[in-house]
Amino acid sequence: YSKDHEVGRRWLDTNIKELYFYLFKHFDSNNATLNDPFANRTMEQLFALMAESYNFGESVDNAALWHRQSLGNLTNRIQKRLEELQNPSDCSKAKILLCDLNKGCGFGCQLHHVAYCFFIAAATERTLVFEGDGKAWRYSNKGWEAAFLPLGKCNQANSAASRKESKPWLGPEQTDRVVFLPIVDGLSRRPKQMPLAFPKQFADELLTHHNNPSVYFVSQFIWYLMRSNSVLEKAISDAAAKIPFGKGPIVGLQIRRTDKIGTEAAFHGLDEYMKWTEHWFRIEELRNDTTLQRKVFIATDEPKVFKEARDKYPHYEIYGDSSIAETAQMNSRYTDSSLFGVVIDIQMLSRCDYLVCTFSSQVCRMGFELMQVRVGDAGHRFHSLDDIYYYGGQHSHDEIAVLSHVPASKDEFAFKKGETIGIAGNHWDGFSKGQNKQTGDNGLYPSYKTRENWRIVDFPIFNGV
Ligand code: GDP
Repeated sequence: YSKDHEVGRRWLDTNIKELYFYLFKHFDSNNATLNDPFANRTMEQLFALMAESYNFGESVDNAALWHRQSLGNLTNRIQKRLEELQNPSDCSKAKILLCDLNKGCGFGCQLHHVAYCFFIAAATERTLVFEGDGKAWRYSNKGWEAAFLPLGKCNQANSAASRKESKPWLGPEQTDRVVFLPIVDGLSRRPKQMPLAFPKQFADELLTHHNNPSVYFVSQFIWYLMRSNSVLEKAISDAAAKIPFGKGPIVGLQIRRTDKIGTEAAFHGLDEYMKWTEHWFRIEELRNDTTLQRKVFIATDEPKVFKEARDKYPHYEIYGDSSIAETAQMNSRYTDSSLFGVVIDIQMLSRCDYLVCTFSSQVCRMGFELMQVRVGDAGHRFHSLDDIYYYGGQHSHDEIAVLSHVPASKDEFAFKKGETIGIAGNHWDGFSKGQNKQTGDNGLYPSYKTRENWRIVDFPIFNGV
């Protein structure tokens, strides 16, 4: 085994998928998959190829187990280090980063905001403490600890970290003992360790074992933050007991509707979610040479989706709680019950075998994030109907051209092998959108001609971990 072998294998797998996106889009927009033998045969062959590639990565030499165990070991080491950071021997002497829990947005947005504070704390070797100790939270009048374990043993009193005496953020090299962090949108001098970066300390391990080291690393912070208290833990295990996890694959759908549509995201009909779900099951069937009962778990803020799914897809077993969706929809978003509802939905999504959702939704991205810690190499276990994975406030997401490109239409732009391309999105039809960082030209390009340009950075708190 070697890192290069694994990176090369994953690259091949990704490229097969890009060919599938390209051809499927062509057949689908001409409705050809319904009646054209050429289209049908091509799709079946692509499914078989994807199944083969998946098995090559998972089954040969028991690789899935090897990846899972190696990543599990790494997770333990990272979690232990975060715990040490949050529990210094003397809070009153520790360097502190004060973070305001309330960003004033939905749960996923708030949690990503707290995780951002946590990244900065780790990058600057500071202990994270909530302003007001997280007691005032729009999501619960009992505060952060209504659902989650405390961040650690430091609070504002024992670390003498008052907002009044704190210093505003000036940058990563700042030496003041207590620093107050603004929300990410207004942050100047962002540390290089912000997503989608990952530590050079783990780079070889992560590139060997995970398809998307950036998201795996983000997930470590989310995982630590979302350690549940006993009340939430019971609610989560009760919810999980109603879904047959571990008894055949289940696809998690997160269907974000209501206030998001037309403002931050486009509408996607249930059929579109189900189309990708059906493809995934087909590949799984080929991969395991078996017939699979179709099962989905649905998380949504639109309760009507459950009825639609049951009416239109009678051969599917459908799991999920429409009462949670009702609470989510009722604009009573910022209450204890909506807090537990959304956390349970995210936790159930992370237990599914595959996700079909819109990465524009932070709820969907959180399910995907937690899945990374739970499963091992789960970087490819999703189909997003819109964005590629991103983290609010991330550094620019860059790729490297592995083949030169001459535009085939006026929508495309040129690049040479080796040039840097900033990626804005993948259209999941064989094309991505981005910009040539050398020439400034932007537009579409064939996705298979570029590969990730990982941002690998020094992250001193992880030395020796
Ligand atoms: P985003 O707006 O989808 O990016 O995610 P946010 O979490 O920031 O805000 C959306 C809010 O709507 C959530 O916090 C929930 O209160 C609610 N919501 C959206 N989708 C779901 C879902 O699938 N399940 C539940 N329970 N609530 C949801």
